[in-house]
Amino acid sequence: ALTTHHLAKSFGSTRAVQDVSLTVQAGETLALLGPSGCGKSTVLRMVAGLERPDTGRVEVGGRDVTALPPEARHIGLVFQDYALFPHLSVLDNVAYGPRMRGAARGEAHGRAQEALVLVNLPELAARKPAQLSGGQAQRVALARALATNSPLLLLDEPLSNLDERLRAELRNDLRELFRRVGAGVLLVTHDQREALALAGQVAVMRAGQLVQTGAARTVFDQPATAWVAAFLGWAN
Ligand code: ATP
Ligand code: MG
Repeated sequence: ALTTHHLAKSFGSTRAVQDVSLTVQAGETLALLGPSGCGKSTVLRMVAGLERPDTGRVEVGGRDVTALPPEARHIGLVFQDYALFPHLSVLDNVAYGPRMRGAARGEAHGRAQEALVLVNLPELAARKPAQLSGGQAQRVALARALATNSPLLLLDEPLSNLDERLRAELRNDLRELFRRVGAGVLLVTHDQREALALAGQVAVMRAGQLVQTGAARTVFDQPATAWVAAFLGWAN
């Protein structure tokens, strides 16, 4: 579903991302792990088209999208700060994705309803974001990404800002959801349980570079370097 080729991005003298090449197969989830500031969100933003790489290419569904604007990339996004539009209903928030990609109002609403069913919130369509719990808002943000019917989903800390009980609950829902929609998923997370529960593949990033990529079980059982082992909590 996704291939990045040697992506690099600097902000002034900060080399945020250096030579990141990764692949997410259709129907597969890859978790991008690494400490705060290592460049995870910058990778996602380049894949999404929200940040222009200095060098490197992005292919989605076999097509080079490096020069395309975000709305032409067939990607569903959930950000770290999943901001919903406060003045729009839940339904209109979810319909926003397909609308932005040119769907007519009726079709966008139909897809939004389906997406709300997928995240188990069909009865809250008329509410405003301020009338939702944190977990419900998180589900609405997910529904917004799903409503785009994209073959690729990018999720940046989709369960952050939730308490442990809700995280555990949504973690299970997400796995089922990914299976059902069959999309490729690139997931950024700090939470290793989340990575193990959701992702078949793991890529570990440090200071802008990938240091180990492989099957999740392999990476967790056989960290390639002492740093990866320490990061994954092997020292404990
Ligand atoms: P976190 O886990 O805290 O979200 P991250 O791995 O997502 O971190 P990025 O947001 O990708 O990290 O940031 C990578 C580096 O690039 C950091 O040093 C950050 O300060 C820097 N950076 C990111 N965006 C910008 C920007 N727009 N302008 C300047 N520097 C930036
Ligand atoms: Mg980030």
